[in-house]
Amino acid sequence: MQQILIDYKKDEDFLHQFKEVNDELNKKNYKNILFHVFSAFPDETVLKALSGEIMKEFPSAYLAGSISAGEICNARLMEPSILVSALLFESTDIYIKNYEDIKTNELEIGKVICNEINNNSEIKALELIMPGTEFNTRIIFEEISKCREDITVFGGYAGGHSMEIGEHYIFNENGLTDNAIFAIYYAGKDFHIDVDKSVGWQTLGRPFTITKADESRMIAINNKPAVEIYEKYLNISRDDNFAENTFEFPLIAKVPEDELLRHTITVEPDGTLDLAGYVTEDMDIYLCFGNPSLIVRKVNERIDEVRKFQPEAILLYSCSVRKAFWENFVDMEMIPFNEIAVTSGFHTWGEVKRNPKTKNVLEYNITLLSIAMREGEPQGEPIPPLKIDDSVLKGQASLIKRLTTLVSATTEELQNAYDDLAELNDKLKYLSEYDSLTNMFNRRKIGVVIEKALEYSISTNDELSLIMLDVDWFKTVNDEYGHAEGDLVLKELADILKDCICSVPGCHVGRWGGEEFFAVLPQFSKEMAYDFAEKLRKTVEEHKFSGMKKHLTISLGVVTVSGENDQYKVFTRVDNCLYKAKERGRNITIQE
Ligand code: GH3
Ligand code: MG
Ligand code: MG
Repeated sequence: MQQILIDYKKDEDFLHQFKEVNDELNKKNYKNILFHVFSAFPDETVLKALSGEIMKEFPSAYLAGSISAGEICNARLMEPSILVSALLFESTDIYIKNYEDIKTNELEIGKVICNEINNNSEIKALELIMPGTEFNTRIIFEEISKCREDITVFGGYAGGHSMEIGEHYIFNENGLTDNAIFAIYYAGKDFHIDVDKSVGWQTLGRPFTITKADESRMIAINNKPAVEIYEKYLNISRDDNFAENTFEFPLIAKVPEDELLRHTITVEPDGTLDLAGYVTEDMDIYLCFGNPSLIVRKVNERIDEVRKFQPEAILLYSCSVRKAFWENFVDMEMIPFNEIAVTSGFHTWGEVKRNPKTKNVLEYNITLLSIAMREGEPQGEPIPPLKIDDSVLKGQASLIKRLTTLVSATTEELQNAYDDLAELNDKLKYLSEYDSLTNMFNRRKIGVVIEKALEYSISTNDELSLIMLDVDWFKTVNDEYGHAEGDLVLKELADILKDCICSVPGCHVGRWGGEEFFAVLPQFSKEMAYDFAEKLRKTVEEHKFSGMKKHLTISLGVVTVSGENDQYKVFTRVDNCLYKAKERGRNITIQE
């Protein structure tokens, strides 16, 4: 396969401009031609005419046009222009379906695309070229995600150079539209594709949680208006320049096996942020920033993968935020791709890719999507390794590079300290609530559970039963087998009690001290509690404790209360029952 690029000038002779394509077609027998047209200008007359001319000259070709926020020719950003990429395939089958009238029909269209793929086993990849913001692509992607797992899915969102004007159009010979999708299907045994994204934006500070969201509207973070994350941590105020000022600090939202970057387009008076791309409630998010060193490293890793893949053509779909971030240095991260194969593409309003692990088709932002294509097996060896030349990052960019290194180093230290603290806190909480020998609730915690259960039974007028139990003649276990063996017996008993008691919804057990335990049984009537206590007693009596010759028994005191709020009185009553059980010879349940 081959890629030929044409920097289209409407005032020049069409055939002359497309001569290279015709020459190549005369040289070799190509099976299919796919034209991508990336235009900085949403000029319907010009684009319709150009697309029409192309289709007239190459009637069997396919064409997908997109308004673009930057045209990438030979891996370099051009002056605003109309760039035509002709991909010539020797054996690959290409076809484009133009799905129209998408708004409100997202689910249906998603299903249609999914079926298209599942009904044609030759399809290897799906490319989606679509308008920026006009319909809910998430619904479409959810359906496409259900298609065959081996299918590569990628694409880009159309949108113009200006951030304010919504020029989100795709086009072909029929004109411009913002309510359609081009789905380009790549099929054939010999077609190979490798798609991945590079990011390199780095998290800053601690995580936050989105507590209220509606698609691309992020309403609340940690239950506060979303805007406060920028006001408090970055001192960016809610004025007309908000989007511009937050641009350098987008958000990273964590999703399974992946992360989605999101930047703000506008802020609403109530503090809601309108983002490029959806978010959902409960997503963990971080503020982040573009770290030039990390970006360069990430893209270098990807360049190496693409180099080894040995593609014959490369497409780069790069977020327009990257263009704004790099300013004059935007070519730097793209140029090496052109050393590998002819590279074209556009700056997008969002990138699309299928996650290789979860198989979900997702909308990304701020990524550099590199699409490497090849027909057949690689010819010869890959070209030698190559890297981005970042020596161009001088002056201010170099200062940013050093500052970001400082910020990321301190952020990492803080994050580690925060993680250590959180871990320590978890341990402390555990230690304060659990008994270290038996790993069950300790006296303090079971006391709190009893207190709450009493309060609840008062408020609901429900009955509540409590059991206190004590091992019979435990001193003799220690005397006969030693204290360490006695500990093991207590652990084994605790496991039995936990199994029997905690498996009943709402019921709890804790170690009251020594070889005494307390069970809390909400909504247990007198009869139920007695039966339950007897079941416990028999279970223990019948259990063969490891390493012990004799069987162990327990004595139990049972009390059922309703509307009682004096904890101390309740304890005394249960304790009295247990005392009676001991007096009457042990291995017995005494109920008040
Ligand atoms: P009974 O309750 O039937 O009257 O007789 P007992 O032998 O169980 O008497 P008591 O309740 O007075 O004694 C409890 C014994 O349990 C005393 C103590 O050495 C032992 N004990 C308490 N806690 C532990 C422990 O954590 N490990 C071990 N091994 N023994 C313990
Ligand atoms: Mg005892
Ligand atoms: Mg005791």
